[in-house]
Amino acid sequence: AHLDRIAAVDGAVHAFLHVSSDEALAAARDVDSRRAAGDDLHPLAGVPIAVKDVVVTKGIPTTAGSRILEGWVPPYDATLVERLKAAGLPILGKTNMDEFAMGSSTEHSAYGQTHNPWDLERIPGGSGGGSAAAVAAFEAPLAIGTDTGGSIRQPGAVTGTVGSKPTYGGVSRYGLIAMASSLDQAGPVTRSVLDAALLHELIGGHDHRDSTSIAEPVAPLADAARQGALGDLTGVRVGVVTELGGEGYQAGVRARFEEGLDLLRAAGAEIVEVSCPHFVYALGAYYLIMPSEASSNLAKFDGMRFGLRVEPSEGPVTAERVMSATRGAGFGDEVKRRVILGTYALSAGYYDAYYGSAQKVRTLIQRDFAAAFAQADVLVSPTAPTTAFKLGEKLDDPLAMYLNDVATIPANLAGVPGMSIPSGLSDDGLPVGFQVLAPAKADDRMYRVGAALE
Ligand code: GLN
Repeated sequence: AHLDRIAAVDGAVHAFLHVSSDEALAAARDVDSRRAAGDDLHPLAGVPIAVKDVVVTKGIPTTAGSRILEGWVPPYDATLVERLKAAGLPILGKTNMDEFAMGSSTEHSAYGQTHNPWDLERIPGGSGGGSAAAVAAFEAPLAIGTDTGGSIRQPGAVTGTVGSKPTYGGVSRYGLIAMASSLDQAGPVTRSVLDAALLHELIGGHDHRDSTSIAEPVAPLADAARQGALGDLTGVRVGVVTELGGEGYQAGVRARFEEGLDLLRAAGAEIVEVSCPHFVYALGAYYLIMPSEASSNLAKFDGMRFGLRVEPSEGPVTAERVMSATRGAGFGDEVKRRVILGTYALSAGYYDAYYGSAQKVRTLIQRDFAAAFAQADVLVSPTAPTTAFKLGEKLDDPLAMYLNDVATIPANLAGVPGMSIPSGLSDDGLPVGFQVLAPAKADDRMYRVGAALE
């Protein structure tokens, strides 16, 4: 049914870069026979899933939205993909994204834009716009996204889906094509909080192949979601972050946020106001740390090891000239912009002034979170300042594009979990997201509060 739905609507939505019909059907049949044989199956066995194209899948092309990886077929599965397969979730295909997960609109994909199913003239968010659009358009009931600065949560907000970024280290990064290793985290994109919790439990937990993976079992997240769904939040302190709201946020976004607070209050939660004074510097720090790490991670795309190889059109064919021709042809403008920015920030003489300072700001943001979580069990804000904007609207203005992430970036800098829950429609008829943030390793709290909001 989902493959039929993809065939019917993906021409207009373009959520998928690759549909793996044969593999998906084979996996579904396998679950059928296991069920017939009376095997003890995972609750999500047989439920199909779409996977963001930055996650490697054995035998299925993986491009990370870039020309430089065109035609590359990974020889192995990411740990999270292994876990999906072992539990019997058929993989429907790979979803579109901004090249190497750099962007907030999916317009930086080398393979065309994805359209928001709510209004095809609008962006589906980014970088994981394909995963969010696939779920919103009922092409897939579940999807995997990755979130470095908001790429699960902001697409969730603008497509009316649930997007959850686990605690850093909660889901293995083995097999994710790294953008910024200290910020990247994979997580669920779904239509309900309980679905997200079930999927998060499945892909989460320790992996010895990722040195930053937390060596502890995942908290019981589905139980937390079921408890939250009962609608009783007595004794839960919810902190509204002063710095994430107000000026620059669309009126309809603010109104839906206030209504969300009313719902939480009605469920018995205590609403308190908390201040995180260094959050105003988060965007600046992020756009130094992220490009710095990305410039280093992307150095491996040298025209020798993976995918594309372009030889210089004239002159000698040296390693350096092949590298330069390949990277010149294979990377898009946004990737080049960030590689140049990151290389500059890391260069001798500038390192302390830029990267070093940004790391200090990162520590201050972590302290803001620690102080805020002493006053509140969870923190809340609108997920994104506006609803989905028009395709093309911010494409020529990188700074305007970056500003979409003001509310989502602090969580990545501190490694804390964050989730976007649909909270109705703005005055323009487009979906709005409500963000819930929890302390590191307390992901269960955001599922409890998130489910109470549904
Ligand atoms: N939009 C942000 C960026 O462009 C976040 C991307 C992400 O989370 N992958 O960096």
